[in-house]
Amino acid sequence: MPVHESEAIILQSYPLGEADRLISFLSRSMGRVRGVAAGARRTKSRFGSTLERLSYVRIWFFERPQRDLVRINQCELIESFLDAFRDYASGVALGIFSEVTEAVLPDHEASDANFRLLLLAAKWVKKTGKPELAMAYFTLWTVKLGGWLPSLEACARCGKALTANQPAYFSRSASALMCGNCRVPGQRVISVAASAAARDMLTKRLDCLDEQTIPPRGARELSDVMLDVIEHQIDRKLQSRELLEKPA
Ligand SMILES: [Zn+2]
Repeated sequence: MPVHESEAIILQSYPLGEADRLISFLSRSMGRVRGVAAGARRTKSRFGSTLERLSYVRIWFFERPQRDLVRINQCELIESFLDAFRDYASGVALGIFSEVTEAVLPDHEASDANFRLLLLAAKWVKKTGKPELAMAYFTLWTVKLGGWLPSLEACARCGKALTANQPAYFSRSASALMCGNCRVPGQRVISVAASAAARDMLTKRLDCLDEQTIPPRGARELSDVMLDVIEHQIDRKLQSRELLEKPA
């Protein structure tokens, strides 16, 4: 049985039996993987705090014949996000990042773009303590990488151009944007600021965005729409989303 070694980000961790943990992680070399960390619940576990959610680690694991779950052999911490979870809003955002990544990526398919996106967004939240922008960026790019981004350029119903100076409307059921003429009651509004932010985010790295031009409210509108698109794709509600507070 060959040992795999990879950089990884811990996505979820569940107790398993008396002493073990079931871990879902995003490895750089093999994509999303689930495995067992034997003895990880013991107080003097060799895993220490390396298996906390979003820990950025180097991990060693074995694949086992005829088994879905790998065996996690060893784990070394590269960077911890534990402190960032202490702030409520940051913790909710980080929880959404891990749940979304876990939900949208297939098993054992490496995706360097998703790996880098998750790490970039988590580091931003940890560094700034301001999760709104990172959440909008993370959800927008997750949707884009998944191939589910609705057209930001034209109304899905009449085909008319969606201009940068007018709001657009998002239909959850169609997972598409519509113009002011085609809108129906109950659709989410995407303000001019939010669509400008989306266009900006698709062409720039998170750390190159000008925060001043993207109000938290516009970022939140964008996240709400992108989380709707993600829930539409995975065909269920995200649990961590329920913890998001209403925008001020
Ligand atoms: Zn229209």
